[in-house]
Amino acid sequence: MAHDELLSDLSGHPDASRIRSSKLKGQIAALVVDASGLGPDERSALEGRLKAAALSIPGVAEVRVALTVSRPERKVVAVGSGKGGVGKSTLAANLAVALARLGKRVGMIDADIYGPSQPTLLGAHERPRAEKQKLIPIEAQGVRLLSIGQLVPAGQALAWRGPMAGSALTQLIEGEWGDTEIILVDLPPGTGDVQLSLVQKMLPDGAVIVSTPQDLSLIDATRAIDLFGKTGVPVLGIIENMAGYICPHCGEASDPFGSGGAEAAAKELGIAFLGRLPLSASLRAASDEGHPPAAGEGPAAEAFAVLAQKLLDALDTPQR
Ligand code: ADP
Repeated sequence: MAHDELLSDLSGHPDASRIRSSKLKGQIAALVVDASGLGPDERSALEGRLKAAALSIPGVAEVRVALTVSRPERKVVAVGSGKGGVGKSTLAANLAVALARLGKRVGMIDADIYGPSQPTLLGAHERPRAEKQKLIPIEAQGVRLLSIGQLVPAGQALAWRGPMAGSALTQLIEGEWGDTEIILVDLPPGTGDVQLSLVQKMLPDGAVIVSTPQDLSLIDATRAIDLFGKTGVPVLGIIENMAGYICPHCGEASDPFGSGGAEAAAKELGIAFLGRLPLSASLRAASDEGHPPAAGEGPAAEAFAVLAQKLLDALDTPQR
């Protein structure tokens, strides 16, 4: 019997979609079967079922099953900004939570050596354990987190020299990320050598840039775009933060920093505009308390869900 015929005999089997190849040599059938996502008991049950099914095919006297596990294709997305204080970390935390709510297995690497704030933003204060010399991310708000802030006391990372920061970052990248599908990296703000070497080390699949609508911040965002351009990392889009203010008392909208500047700049630079978030006292308060609004209900959660979907769409779109 030819290999294809053996497969077609098994094609009606409930586990057929897991069969990667089948061969018959003499009376011995050899199956390669994908056991991704199964625990030990389920794996042996799967093996047993397929063995029995193959043995019931006339001419098959022995069945050998090789179980394989495919690594999920993992995407790494850097979140950067030309300068500090534009809300890069806040947006990164909420985007991660929103991606998790869309059903993705999401990780976060907090590489902001100047002010690692992801443990605060995601409300995760435990220290990660290490197993077989690999750090195990902490789970918070449905996001797997490793932060430079978990490895060193607050304020100390800043004093690190380049190589020390680099080796700590390697530990985060090489953590036990398991079946994580997408990892966001919260970069230190700015566009200097530190950021350049981090980006070179991580080789992200894409980058998102956070900017406020102000001119000065936009000039900085342009520098950030250049930084990723230099390293060949496609910029997936720009997010405008603190765009407009809605008064919590009267509901009136105003534009303390202007609005629309990032969108106009994105257009000029030929970069996608992913969306904007208003200046919001409740977003700030919730973030400080470790309750990312993306995890709740309401307009902020919806805005982050839309941004997260746009990010996924941009990741799926081949970049120039
Ligand atoms: P960065 O990572 O760019 O340095 P952060 O995310 O740490 O910036 O944000 C700086 C400060 O601005 C924080 O106190 C944060 O809560 C606040 N913030 C961020 N985005 C907003 C927003 N849209 N409205 C109000 N406050 C914000």
